Order: sequence, then structure tokens, then C-alpha cells
Amino acid sequence: MTRITVAKGDGIGPEIMDATLEIILAAGAQLEIDEIAVGEQVYLAGNTSGIAKESWDIIRKNKVFLKAPITTPQGGGYKSLNVTTRKFLGLYANIRPCLSLHPYVKTKHPQMDLVIVRENEEDLYAGIEHQQTDEVVQCLKLISRPGCEKIVRYAFEYARQYDRKKVTCFTKDNIMKQTDGLFHQVFDEIAKEYPDIENEHWIIDIGAAKMADTPEAFDVIVMPNLYGDVLSDVAAQIAGSVGLAGSANIGEECAMFEAIHGSAPRRAGQNLANPSGLLQGAVMMLNHIGQTEVAEKVQNAWLKTIEDGIHTYDIYKEGISRQKVGTKEFAQAVIRNLGEKPSTLKAVSFAKGSALQLPKYQRKPAAKKDLVGVDLFVHWGGTNPDELASLIQSIQTPEAKLSMITNRGIKVWPDGFQETFCTDHWRCRFKPTEGELLPKGEIIKLLYKAHESGIDTVKTENLYAFNGQPAFSLGQGQ
Ligand code: NAD
Repeated sequence: MTRITVAKGDGIGPEIMDATLEIILAAGAQLEIDEIAVGEQVYLAGNTSGIAKESWDIIRKNKVFLKAPITTPQGGGYKSLNVTTRKFLGLYANIRPCLSLHPYVKTKHPQMDLVIVRENEEDLYAGIEHQQTDEVVQCLKLISRPGCEKIVRYAFEYARQYDRKKVTCFTKDNIMKQTDGLFHQVFDEIAKEYPDIENEHWIIDIGAAKMADTPEAFDVIVMPNLYGDVLSDVAAQIAGSVGLAGSANIGEECAMFEAIHGSAPRRAGQNLANPSGLLQGAVMMLNHIGQTEVAEKVQNAWLKTIEDGIHTYDIYKEGISRQKVGTKEFAQAVIRNLGEKPSTLKAVSFAKGSALQLPKYQRKPAAKKDLVGVDLFVHWGGTNPDELASLIQSIQTPEAKLSMITNRGIKVWPDGFQETFCTDHWRCRFKPTEGELLPKGEIIKLLYKAHESGIDTVKTENLYAFNGQPAFSLGQGQ
């Protein structure tokens, strides 16, 4: 018996949750259910996060959360419950299977059956953004080794558990050598521990194009947050099944399962909605808690129901479908099919049968870290980099000499091109004499001298070498 938390949400949420629970309980799921309220009524009662404090306690105690879609009220001030839940509970992995149900649901990709594993906590989504000058804003892209190791390991463990043959990694490490470079490097390291599973890396642009064109070439794809956000929607859409897809958000302690669609308020209360997306989330939940036999039984009965042509309005097609049904009738049809398997669609087997257990991240020994320079970012309204260079050279110290100026990453001094367009945001790189390290106090001296000279510094970035390897980007053109 597993105790889970359930939230029925808004709009079509209560109907699809009732249908989902009815199906999985009829299939023999061993669940004790604590229900909590989330969403519109909680928001409108004045709680800007859409969930009460006591509900958090229940979610954290039970650790497994099945959530129906909610309506985020229009207007400012309301925080997305999904984002808050992901962040608070450390749900680092987002898993989205994208399966085409050809010929029962229209798709251009009849063979598609892939799973997107998206890193869920970091990358450009860390929410660290600043305006630094009149013309330039920035967003920090943070990628961590624990973040990469956890998500990549999850992808391989998932592949092993579900008999998937290949894990593909998408990054843009030809451009982002540090951040995406780390993700790719960790992928290569961890892939070695899974010799039974094929692995490959694609640069995201051509990889995404290939996925949209030939999704059957992929099996499990793991990627950083932003790419995963975009591509998981593309994958669900081209599978033809946005309304049919579920997703899991997995953390070291807790996990949340849901449909990928929203609360469809216009369809609410009419026994119209398709419960399949949430049911797919529930199947992932059953697998997660080790009730894999029940998960398998539900999934096969659901596939059989789709195959029988018993369809809700959203996928009903004259000529393909046999019977248009409402939410409740669809659930009853799935329940009648429990124990059956599809004959055209591929039946699933979750026989390996235990919950995915991942080791906790173990911190590695610290590397030798040397300060080898500093980038001073300056807000300056001029246009001629040589002029800025003279100004900046006036504050350099014997230990920290100006070596380069870039604008939006492109080297403009020394030897810049007059054609390069420049904004008011300049990176001035200071280096010690060749072979020396930079004493950290020099940074404070530079900042102080800049302040005294009326130079507007907006931030500094320290340049480090780890175990002797420079760990920062060069200027483009350097
Ligand atoms: P939506 O996914 O609710 O609806 C998009 C379209 O798909 C609508 O035409 C709807 O009728 C249809 N649809 C969606 N699910 C369906 C189902 N199960 N059966 C049949 N038809 C279905 O997206 P939206 O209209 O942009 O958003 C509505 C609300 O949902 C908004 O308040 C939004 O913030 C919220 N939302 C919540 C979540 C979540 O809780 N995870 C996710 C997305 C959107």
C-alpha cells in the first residue's frame, strides 16, 4: 500500500482525476489517498502560490503527488504552482514519453516512440536575470555537475528499466563549451557505465531537425532544461497526442505526475474531456512506486481501448473511431479491457518491476583552483573601443593588465574591426604577467580605481583554471 497525495485541480481536472483513479483502483493499485486543494480557489482566496502550507506538509510526507491541471488566474502576482513545486521539491528530472498511436490517432510519424528526459532545475531557468546597462540585459545559464550527473544517470537507468536500446544527448557544446560542454562530458562519462545501452550525442540544432523529421531514429533523449522544454512540446505534438501525453517530475525524495495539457475550462463539467493524459501520468506513477504489474495492466487496457475506436471527442474521427464517448464512458471501457492487450498497437511489458533507485550524488574532491585573471564588465556609452582601452588602461595595476575588450563576446580591442556593432556593455579582461596568478586583492584595487575614475563597472567575473585547465571562454576572434 502506498500513500499518495492527489489534487483534482480546476476545469476538467476533477473529472479526469475521478476517471483516472477509478481505472487504476479497478486495476488493483494499492493506494491510500490524501486529497489536497490546489489552484484557482486557493489563488483567489489570497494565496499567491496556489497551495496552502498544510498541503505542502502532506505532499512532503507522502512524497508521491498525482496532480490534475490547474487554472492560473490571469493578472500579475500569481506564481505558477508547477514551477514552485518543481523547485521546492527538487524535482530535477522531467520525463515525457511521446508515443504515436497510428492509425487510431492522426500523426505523420506512425513509428514514433521516444522519451524526452529533460533536466528540470537549472540552465537558463535558474531565474537569475539582470539589466546591466541601458542596452543590455543578461540571463545566467547555470549548469552544475550534480545536475548533469543526476539527469544523465536517470536517463540511462530509465532506459535500462524500460528496455530502451539507446540514449541520445542533445547539447550545443560547439558554442557553449563550458556549460553544454559539461553536460556532454558528463554524458560521455556516465554512458561508459552502461555498455548494454547504445549512446550518441547530437548538436541540438541538427538533432532537433532530425527528431522532427525522423523521430523513430530516437529512443530516449536527454537534454538541458531549455532545449528539453521546447523539444518535449515538439515531440508530443508530432506524436499527435498532446492531449494524450503524461509527464513525471522526479526528485531524490519526491515525485509529481500529471497530464501535459491544461485545465481546458471551456470543456469543464460536461463529461467531455479525455482522461488519457492524466492516466498516462498515473501509469508512470505506478511504475515509480513499484506497482509495475498494475501499470502494465492499465497501459495495455488503455491501448486496447484506443485501438477499439472508443474515443473522446478530441480524438474522434469518422471512419477510424467506432464510438464517441464521454469521460466516464471512456473510463468504463478501459476498466472492461483490464487484462486485455492491444493487437495492432504494441503491448507494453513493465516486467522488470521495481521502483527506479538512483544513488544520491556524491560530491567529488575539490580540484586545484587558480585565479588567472578577471573580467570587468563596464557600462560605457562611447563607440570607439580604443578610447575605452585608454580609459581602462589608466586603472590597470602592475599585477593586472588589460589584455582584451569584447562587446557581446566579440573581441573589439586590440585589433578590432570597425564594422563590429557595439552596445554600451563591455567586457574588459585583465590578466597577470604570463605564467603568474592574479592575487585576488587586485580585483578590489581595480574596482576601487575604476570607481575613482568614474568608470561604471556593472559586474566582475573571475577567471579560473581548474587543475591547470583554463575554464572560461575566450573572446570571439581572440
Ligand atoms: P489547455 O491544454 O487547457 O487546452 C488547449 C486545448 O486542448 C483546448 O481546446 C482544450 O479544450 C483542449 N484539451 C486540453 N486537454 C484536453 C482533454 N483532456 N480532453 C479534451 N480536450 C482537451 O490549454 P489552455 O487553454 O492554454 O490553458 C487553460 C488553463 O490551463 C490555463 O489557465 C493554463 O494556465 C492552465 N494550464 C495548466 C497546466 C498544468 O496545470 N499543468 C498546463 C498547461 C496549462
